[in-house]
Amino acid sequence: MTLLAVLDHDRGKLAEASLETLTSARALAAQMGTDLHAVLLGADAEALAGQAEAGGAAVVHVAQHEVLVDYGPEAWGAAVAELAGSVGALAVTATGTDRGNEVLAQVAARMDLPFVANCTEINTGANDGGAWSLTRTQWGGSLLEDATLDAPVKIVSYGHHAIEAAPADEPGAGEVRTFTPALDGSLARTVVTDRVVLSQGVTLATAPVVVSGGRGVGSEEGFAILDELAAELGGVVGCSRAVTNNGWRPHKDQVGQTGTRIAPEIYIATGISGAIQHWVGAMASKKILAINTDPEANMVSKADYAVIGDLHEIVPAITEEIRRRRG
Ligand SMILES: Cc1cc2nc3c(=O)[nH]c(=O)nc-3n(C[C@H](O)[C@H](O)[C@H](O)COP(=O)(O)OP(=O)(O)OC[C@H]3O[C@@H](n4cnc5c(N)ncnc54)[C@H](O)[C@@H]3O)c2cc1C
Repeated sequence: MTLLAVLDHDRGKLAEASLETLTSARALAAQMGTDLHAVLLGADAEALAGQAEAGGAAVVHVAQHEVLVDYGPEAWGAAVAELAGSVGALAVTATGTDRGNEVLAQVAARMDLPFVANCTEINTGANDGGAWSLTRTQWGGSLLEDATLDAPVKIVSYGHHAIEAAPADEPGAGEVRTFTPALDGSLARTVVTDRVVLSQGVTLATAPVVVSGGRGVGSEEGFAILDELAAELGGVVGCSRAVTNNGWRPHKDQVGQTGTRIAPEIYIATGISGAIQHWVGAMASKKILAINTDPEANMVSKADYAVIGDLHEIVPAITEEIRRRRG
């Protein structure tokens, strides 16, 4: 009886989303009354066994194979599917990042099983092998759907940021088992071959404070006041798609369905109307302050706090007040 959690990493650096995976998998394993096994694949994976143990894994499987050097969805999926079969997994889970969902989709296809992605809640029921009840997000997060999953092995991901990562009350036994999956070169059709660092340090996805600008900012130069406020608060600048479409900021700064999903302590959205495609990327923010000239804007009605007025006056005034209070 095993729940298998797929952890993501890049050459020995655990992905932040994998802390969410361990948190949700611990809760799921407790609900199922089963052991939590973690699986790590690729170069330098073994170095992360301690983190998986600290996260509650009773067993840490480390896949070793020359094809598994860097991330490749087909090879990772094939290795996890083989492992799920050999350990008799009742369920396989990951966090629903692009990679997490891609690997689980590969696992499901190879095992000829259904896959439910981006869950927000999972109820395993009586643990008699019967169907699970799940709630998952659809349409980029704008719709919650109740579903049932009936399959001999349940393959599910929790949505990224659907739950908050938390440390385990106590570590798991952390028994490390290495295995060599039966992979061949044809599974290495898609692999990471290069890494381009787009941003260092605090990123949009992990920043505690995000100050975003929309069309209301008016120009590339207009973002200078947002850069100043973000720097004062130790945060980063984000933007809407209207801004990236205009070429005022690069796509890596875009918040939303086709940008980055953020979960800061506070999101300051200035000159952004709050279209659904933007909102799905911002809705996991703990608190939202909207600054907008339109009191009827969607972002204003959804925000915890709002200032109705011209961002070009309000944003510098906030920065100045913070500086004044800090002396
Ligand atoms: C498939 C698809 C995917 C998409 N993905 C994304 C995505 O990932 N992210 C995203 O953001 N959008 C996305 N969009 C686009 C989205 O639908 C909206 O068009 C976009 O978010 C609007 O950007 P905005 O709020 O900056 O601009 P607008 O909707 O034009 O809003 C500008 C706001 O600024 C306010 N304003 C104007 N001047 C000032 C001022 N001086 N001071 C204060 N407020 C002012 C206005 O009142 C208004 O509310 C997507 C669309 C599609 C179809």
